[in-house]
Amino acid sequence: MMKTADEFLVKSDEKAFDLGHRKTINHNIGKYNVAVTRGISRFENLENSKKKAHAIKWRVMENLDKYLPEFEANFQRRGGKVIWANDAAEAQKEILNIINKRNGKTVIKSKSMTTEEIHLNDFLGEHGIESLESDLGEYIVQLLGQPPYHIVTPAMHLSKEEIAKLFHDRFGTPIDATPQQLTQKARELLREKYLRADIGISGGNFLIADTGSIALTENEGNARLCTTFPKVHIAIVGIEKIIPSMADLDLFWPLLASHGTGQNLTVYNTILSGPRRPEETDGPEEMYVILLDNGRTNLLAQKEQRQGLYCIRCGACLNACPVYKNIGGHTYDTTYSGPIGSIITPHLKGMKEFKHLSYASSLCGKCSEVCPAKIDIHKMLLLNRRDAATTHENPKTEEIGWKMWKTGMQKRSRMDMVGGKLKNFFMKLLFRKSWGKYREMPEVAPKSFARLYEEKKKADNN
Ligand code: SF4
Repeated sequence: MMKTADEFLVKSDEKAFDLGHRKTINHNIGKYNVAVTRGISRFENLENSKKKAHAIKWRVMENLDKYLPEFEANFQRRGGKVIWANDAAEAQKEILNIINKRNGKTVIKSKSMTTEEIHLNDFLGEHGIESLESDLGEYIVQLLGQPPYHIVTPAMHLSKEEIAKLFHDRFGTPIDATPQQLTQKARELLREKYLRADIGISGGNFLIADTGSIALTENEGNARLCTTFPKVHIAIVGIEKIIPSMADLDLFWPLLASHGTGQNLTVYNTILSGPRRPEETDGPEEMYVILLDNGRTNLLAQKEQRQGLYCIRCGACLNACPVYKNIGGHTYDTTYSGPIGSIITPHLKGMKEFKHLSYASSLCGKCSEVCPAKIDIHKMLLLNRRDAATTHENPKTEEIGWKMWKTGMQKRSRMDMVGGKLKNFFMKLLFRKSWGKYREMPEVAPKSFARLYEEKKKADNN
């Protein structure tokens, strides 16, 4: 079986030269760039807002043991139930228990990367439960049997013609249907599903500690329908999503909307604080929040890299990244792709298997520049590389190569011990593969500058 890193290289190679893919991505990211430039211009002092977001997230991560129980106590006080899940298997098991208790057969879902992380749809399918995505982009990729391509815009890699063809093949809509017609068709198909679904499942953009609530933000209104129509609502939220107070949404909602889609504020913003109360007319009879660890505490344990947990999943770093724009979201083969995926995945899923992602970067720093939480992403990439090297996770040949290079570089006489020919031979032997087939290896001159200088000096003296 091919190793994850090798697969990544093969797929990157294919995608980077797929001109159709590049055209669609450039078009969609181009539209995003225009919208975001306008969106962030609405901040009076964007830099200060970003610094404040960073400071709040820092405080939260340093005090997670205080904020999470505070959320739990407040949410339970209003009738909600909290479940702590260490990993994907635990979360899956708890969700299945809740569904089985209700004898549920159908689930309607709103967009959630945590459910992707635990492979919920496949898991429920294996247990005979229909799980349907209701976000339009997610619905499209679900029809194609694909994972989301991007954490904010799951179907970003598809052109409107490709989506029209998909709907034509599946539902008989005109082959040249407009985006409005396609949306209308999806709406017709989904409406009835909300009414029939036994369970509604969502993620959560923020967990609010002081009120014990989850905050959801979306543009289609589907999350509201998912969380209010079915009798049971389950929200699966990563433990890092906590913010201290409802007042902090004043900062985080506009930051997320402007960096995610270029909006001042997303169209639908909902705060849910438990199941329906006796005096209320709408809402589920039961509401659960599953607090998901799934490797997050491993990242928390890394003092220098825990910044990765400040992420609010706006997707801005993906859109800014020259690597992501060329190889696309699916190539990473991880739930979180692009720069943020590259810094957190080695900690969530293992350094040995995913360290290569921290090398898939030009270190241009654009990701850090655009991040609304001011995560020093490119520094995190370097720290991951350092960790991979110090724990000897890199290939043996690479280690030997660097050792030889270090020994040689420490003394001029050692560097000049062998000529350019032999140096070129070793460079090719050790680095040819990692250098890649599209780049020419640099050639070392037959004689070093120091030697040429010495020779010239000698000749001048004679
Ligand atoms: S790391 Fe920053 S820019 Fe990237 S998705 Fe997270 S918050 Fe957005």
